[in-house]
Amino acid sequence: MVQTSPAVLILLGPPGAGKGTQARMLEEQFGLIQLSTGDLLRAAVAAGTAAGKAAKAVMEAGQLVSDEIVLAILKERLAQPDVTAGVILDGFPRTDGQASALDALLADAGQKVTAAISLEVDDEAMVARVSGRYTCAKCGEGYHEEFKLPATAGVCDKCGGTEFKRRADDNAETARERLKAYHAQTAPLIAHYAKAGVLERIDAMGSIDDIASGLGRIVARVSAT
Ligand code: AMP
Repeated sequence: MVQTSPAVLILLGPPGAGKGTQARMLEEQFGLIQLSTGDLLRAAVAAGTAAGKAAKAVMEAGQLVSDEIVLAILKERLAQPDVTAGVILDGFPRTDGQASALDALLADAGQKVTAAISLEVDDEAMVARVSGRYTCAKCGEGYHEEFKLPATAGVCDKCGGTEFKRRADDNAETARERLKAYHAQTAPLIAHYAKAGVLERIDAMGSIDDIASGLGRIVARVSAT
């Protein structure tokens, strides 16, 4: 049977697991929309909105922004028409309260989570991955000092941009705090989605391309059921 309602995919995993990179690749491959609450919050911080002002210090400390703020920005984004193509939630939900709110929101629309895919990785490797990453300031393409350098030094492979930026919270100390928050508040959601019968697991310690192939196979399978 071909699925009629749009796919709602969740990528679960600690900081550095590759959620953002993989979500962008799935977006291109399947025509889905990536919804990253981290990106939405960073945009709110940059724009100086009330939500951004409240979130800034919490994000810099590597802790979780309140469910109230996160749900408000997510609902605002979900009200935009492009999401009817289906979504990949990257970095959301991160708490029990957010998972329940998402279930309720989808139930109201006669939908449910299609799959929650847990990217399984090793904690110490995550600190190294997060500490070395940066993005093109122009197009947002992600790079890493060790694992993914641009083909020509200092020039973005995708858009030719020459300015790069680093997230304020991508340092070893904050990465450890973010890992703690992940294990305390987000990892328990794996059991929530296992109980709902929609959990998928993938070994995310391999190369970006290998993980992308594995994820692509999962998404193709769950989208067709
Ligand atoms: P990310 O880009 O997903 O790594 O998120 C960066 C930071 O934004 C996190 O460390 C949190 O402070 C905050 N954040 C992003 N998404 C959420 C969420 N769903 N719930 C709470 N805080 C979040």
